Amino acid sequence: MQALSLHRHFFTALLSAVLTINAYAGASRSPSANNSGKPVIEPSSPTYGGFTADKLQAAVDKAYATFNALDEGKNADYIPILTETLSNLFGVVIVTPDGKTFCAGDVDYKFSIQSISKPFTAALVMKETSPQELQEKIGMEPTGLPFNSKMALELYEARSVNPLVNAGAIAAVSMINADSEDKRWYKVRQNLNDFAGTELRLMEKVFKSEYDTSWSNRGMANLLYNYGRLYCKPEEALRVYTKQCALGVSAKDLGMMGATLANGGKNPITGKQVLPKAHVPELLAIMATAGFYDESGIWMAEAGLPAKTGVGGGIVAVVPGKFAIAAFSPRLNPAGNSIKSMKAIRQISGELGLGVFGANPE
Ligand code: GLN
Repeated sequence: MQALSLHRHFFTALLSAVLTINAYAGASRSPSANNSGKPVIEPSSPTYGGFTADKLQAAVDKAYATFNALDEGKNADYIPILTETLSNLFGVVIVTPDGKTFCAGDVDYKFSIQSISKPFTAALVMKETSPQELQEKIGMEPTGLPFNSKMALELYEARSVNPLVNAGAIAAVSMINADSEDKRWYKVRQNLNDFAGTELRLMEKVFKSEYDTSWSNRGMANLLYNYGRLYCKPEEALRVYTKQCALGVSAKDLGMMGATLANGGKNPITGKQVLPKAHVPELLAIMATAGFYDESGIWMAEAGLPAKTGVGGGIVAVVPGKFAIAAFSPRLNPAGNSIKSMKAIRQISGELGLGVFGANPE
C-alpha cells in the first residue's frame, strides 16, 4: 500500500513538473509573478512581422477612422466611366504572408486595377526573360514625369524608360512571349490571377471606356514601335495593356498581390511561387523609385515603402518580409494618386515604423 502511494506521489510530482515546463514553453517571453509568488502564465499570441493581430487591426482601424471623412480630390475622369464610381468609398487592409487579413471599410468592393497591374506584368517579363533584358529593352530609371508623359519618350534615349509608366508598361506587355494576342492576354491575366490567388474578372465597360478614348496611349505605342522599342504590333500591345488595367480587384485582392511580394514571390493562399525569390528585390526597387511617377521621391521620403498606385483609386505597399498594406479610395490628387489611400498607408507606416530605410515620422 505504502509503495503504491509513494508511486502515486512520484507520478503526480512528475506530471506537475512536465505541465509547468510545457506551460513555460508556450508562454510569451518572461512569465510574471502574482501575489502568491507563483508564475502567471500568459498565453503567447502570434505576431506578424513583429506585431500582434490586435496592433495591426488597431492601426488599420485608426487609419480608416482618421481619413474616412476627407473629401479632397476627385475621381479620374479621362477614362469616362471612372467618374461613375462612388467617390466616398474607402477601404484599408493589411495582408500577411500567411494570408491573414486585417480590414476596415470597403475592402471587398471591386474597382479597376489600372496601373497597379504594371509591376506584376514587369515581374512576368523578368521571369520569362531576365531583369537585364527588361533593363535593356525598356529601362529601369524613374522618369520624374507624369505616368502618361509623351515628353519622356523624346527626352530619354531608352524611350519607354521604366515599366511603371504607361509607355514602359505597354512595352512590357509587348515583351511577353506569345504568338497571338489571345495568348498574350491569357498569360498576362493568368500571371495577375496568380499574384492575387484568385480569378480576376475583366470589367468590360471599363475596358471599352478606356480603349475607345486611348488616343494618348495609342500615340505612345505607335511611337515606341517606330523607335524599335515595342516588341509586338502597337494595337495588340495597347489592347492587352488596356485590358490588364481593366481587371477588377478589391483592396483585399491588392493586399494579397502585395503579400505575395512580401512573401518572397510566393502566394500566401495557393503556395505558388509566382516570381522567383531572387527577382523580388529588383522589382521592389523599381516600385520604390517609380511607383508614384513624379511623386515617387516624396512618397519614399514620407512612407518609406515600395508601392504602386492606380487611377482606379487603389494603392498597394509592400513591407518586405512582413506584410502588405493596400487601400482604395477613388478621389485622386493631380498626379493621379489616391489621396485617402496614400494618407492611410503613410500613417500606418509611420505609426508602426515600417519604412525600409528606418522608421519614418508619423
Ligand atoms: N490605364 C491607365 C492609363 O493607361 C492607367 C494609368 C494609371 O493608373 N496611372 O492611363
